[in-house]
Amino acid sequence: MSTKASLKGGEFLIKDISYENVFIPEEFDEEQRMIAESSSDFIETQVAQYFDDLDNHKEGLMPQLLKQAGELGLLGISVPEEYEGFGQSFLTNMKVNEEIGSAYSFSVAFMAHTGIGTLPLLYYGNKEQHDKYLSKLATGEWLASYCLTEPGAGSDANAGKTKAVLSEDGKHYILNGQKMWITNAGFANLLTVFAKIENDRILSAFLVEADWEGITMNPEENKMGIKGSSTRQIFFNDVKVPVENLLGRRGEGFRIALNILHVGRIKLGATVIGAMRRAINQSVNYANERKQFGSLISSFGAIQQKLADQVVKTFSNESAVYRASKDIEDTINEFLESGKEYGAANIEGIAEYEPECAMLKVYGSESLDFIVDEGVQIHGGMGYSAETPIERGYRDSRINRIFEGTNEINRLIAVDSITKKGKKHKIDLYEKIEEIKKNLEPEAFTGEYYNDKHALIKNLKKLTLYLIPLVQEKFGRKLMFEEEILMNLSDMMMNLYVMESTLLRVEKIDKKGLKDNISVYKDILDILTHNLTKSIYGSALDAIGSFAEGEEADKLKTLLDKLTSLNPFNVKEARRRVAGKLIEDNRYNF
Ligand SMILES: Cc1cc2nc3c(=O)[nH]c(=O)nc-3n(C[C@H](O)[C@H](O)[C@H](O)COP(=O)(O)OP(=O)(O)OC[C@H]3O[C@@H](n4cnc5c(N)ncnc54)[C@H](O)[C@@H]3O)c2cc1C
Repeated sequence: MSTKASLKGGEFLIKDISYENVFIPEEFDEEQRMIAESSSDFIETQVAQYFDDLDNHKEGLMPQLLKQAGELGLLGISVPEEYEGFGQSFLTNMKVNEEIGSAYSFSVAFMAHTGIGTLPLLYYGNKEQHDKYLSKLATGEWLASYCLTEPGAGSDANAGKTKAVLSEDGKHYILNGQKMWITNAGFANLLTVFAKIENDRILSAFLVEADWEGITMNPEENKMGIKGSSTRQIFFNDVKVPVENLLGRRGEGFRIALNILHVGRIKLGATVIGAMRRAINQSVNYANERKQFGSLISSFGAIQQKLADQVVKTFSNESAVYRASKDIEDTINEFLESGKEYGAANIEGIAEYEPECAMLKVYGSESLDFIVDEGVQIHGGMGYSAETPIERGYRDSRINRIFEGTNEINRLIAVDSITKKGKKHKIDLYEKIEEIKKNLEPEAFTGEYYNDKHALIKNLKKLTLYLIPLVQEKFGRKLMFEEEILMNLSDMMMNLYVMESTLLRVEKIDKKGLKDNISVYKDILDILTHNLTKSIYGSALDAIGSFAEGEEADKLKTLLDKLTSLNPFNVKEARRRVAGKLIEDNRYNF
């Protein structure tokens, strides 16, 4: 397989791609599988027994487990070896996140430390800062937090009021302000704090040691879920931060914050896979034990439908996350080969895929919410009992739609970044739109399985691309106030990316003969295609109804019907077959 990124960020919408050029999870190599296995062994043998204790905030337990992870090298997976890390690739890092993601609150603390806690230093720190702090974070000797959010600055992160003023002798910044919702705050040693220097309009970033004088905290927040993760408000009262602890350049903090969030978003997409697998296993285990009306509930069609849909969401999320992760990894490597520095290559490689990162955060978090919700339903009354693990999964899932940028913000980012790339000629979006306008006829269905799936996706891309300039022309600069329509477009793009990624994965599995039972993978693809085409139809119909009237609306509705035409198939039987494999294996084994 090519080691050059198959597509630039956002290009999936305008280019067709062969299955040969995408990475699929079946292609993880021996070493990556071993690292993944030791990560999941660590969770099952060292952490799982403490899930209750963690949620009860047993004193010192979370940092102790994080330090144990550090001793095994898990905290330094993406840190270069010279700083006592493992120096592993982006893909391997994502795979580790997937495995750790099954560990409820522990995974949140782990991600906050290894992601938003460590990456600002790793990517933007200078040599002195690396020498001083990086090994400590990679080994778990020190733990880290990321302090961006403030009471008045959440989604609007640059609105923060925390201020840094240079001391008279020029040796320190004097930091004053308040941060809230800070993960790992209760035990972190190093805080990346975002604040404005003097009267700057844009944030800067600072490395702040948590035991410096002037730092105080509120007690732990009383949260709905992820109860075991430490979340506190932090106050900075005349904290003296040495000038050499400015991270990056003055005024670069907002960019640092956003770039780190891109990584956080795709990581969240990977993390939820572990949580999905755990929830599915709990669901099918229960369905295979619980009898009603003299039969196991796993024999009922309504339950099989839920189990199958859980599998389809997970499989499709995996397909999209690892496809994007490989493109990011290849782009980082290209940048490194072209001579870019380590931090810049990583940041720019990841930022290139801003739309995909945002979409995967949304798809992953909403898929997990669906899966745990149906998991509770499969458990019936027991699902509502705090004695049952699925209850924890249900509560813990909800945060994923809120942090790392809310899903509303991420939906807006996805569509905004793709159209901006087009306007800046980074991708040929508007050229492709002109081409599409000349031929709106649907692609032909020939009866050949993969051809017809590709044809459907081409039609759905045509539809999406056709709508973009229409709404832009209709609303001009005021389009930013039509968020509902932007979210319709964003959902269309997201569903297309996921559908195409799943198609390419199944096609590759099939054509390379990677699995014996290809028919069940085709079932997954058929169910997904069926569900997402309906969803794209709904989004497009909403969008059209929101900006077009009369003859224009009629014409667009005709086009919509033509481009979303689906051949009917027996979705009920397909779901039963997918559920059948899950029920027989009694675990997610796809
Ligand atoms: C458990 C937990 C852990 C967290 N950990 C950290 C951490 O470690 N570090 C850190 O810095 N922060 C952290 N956060 C903060 C988190 O990132 C923010 O809560 C999040 O960004 C949303 O900000 P907010 O809560 O102020 O909501 P708001 O920004 O007030 O949003 C409220 C609602 O309005 C919507 N909204 C806002 N603006 C727009 C818009 N322009 N268009 C459409 N809708 C909009 C949002 O989508 C949301 O639905 C954490 C939060 C929680 C709950």
